[in-house]
Amino acid sequence: MNIILLGPPGAGKGTQAKRLIERYGIPQISTGDMLRAAVAEKTPLGLEAKKYMDAGQLVPDSVVIGLVKERIQKDDCKKGYMLDGFPRNVSQAETLDRMLNELGQKIDHVVCIEVPEDELIQRLTGRRTCRQCGAGFHVMFDPPKQEGLCDKCGGELYQRDDDNVQTVTSRLKVYKDQTEPLIAYYEKQGKLRRIDGLGSIDEIFNRIVAVLG
Ligand code: AMP
Repeated sequence: MNIILLGPPGAGKGTQAKRLIERYGIPQISTGDMLRAAVAEKTPLGLEAKKYMDAGQLVPDSVVIGLVKERIQKDDCKKGYMLDGFPRNVSQAETLDRMLNELGQKIDHVVCIEVPEDELIQRLTGRRTCRQCGAGFHVMFDPPKQEGLCDKCGGELYQRDDDNVQTVTSRLKVYKDQTEPLIAYYEKQGKLRRIDGLGSIDEIFNRIVAVLG
């Protein structure tokens, strides 16, 4: 099963992806995570991407398309995969369709998690991640027992560079202008599954599983 997780930044795509990959036994392919890894390793691609990421803009299509094309052909993708944060605009979606066609594959479901904008800003600016194990927390909604430290492994919690108010505002605008048109794109293909993204992590997970079957 090949799935796309769609939705604005802060909708909970990453959180749900982590649970869904366990349920369905397929890998999560997050272009944001891949780019952040390249930034951390200071590769030429990472250094180039960082400029766009820090400004809340999309990195050039050619960069992310190359990453995804290579990744979906790895052995662990044979039974399917979950794309998280890709495609991000209509041009990426069209390229993906062509690429999958050539590989004899297709997207089965596009899960769109919907959350109102004022809730997104609160969620994004308060989220923290463990540097060691990647666990996610939120200063208000899911605070760690000890401030700044991960409950699971004791690692240091950090805030993503692009989760400050200014960058969040421009990421939300980029979503509205460039990514939201994908809703109509996939609706036309009959693949769109809308999910109410308000509620507990479990509730939202159950809603997604109910539509994926
Ligand atoms: P995310 O973790 O999905 O919120 O992505 C963080 C940042 O990485 C975005 O604001 C973009 O700068 C960049 N990025 C991630 N995925 C893509 C993509 N498919 N196309 C262009 N830029 C992306």
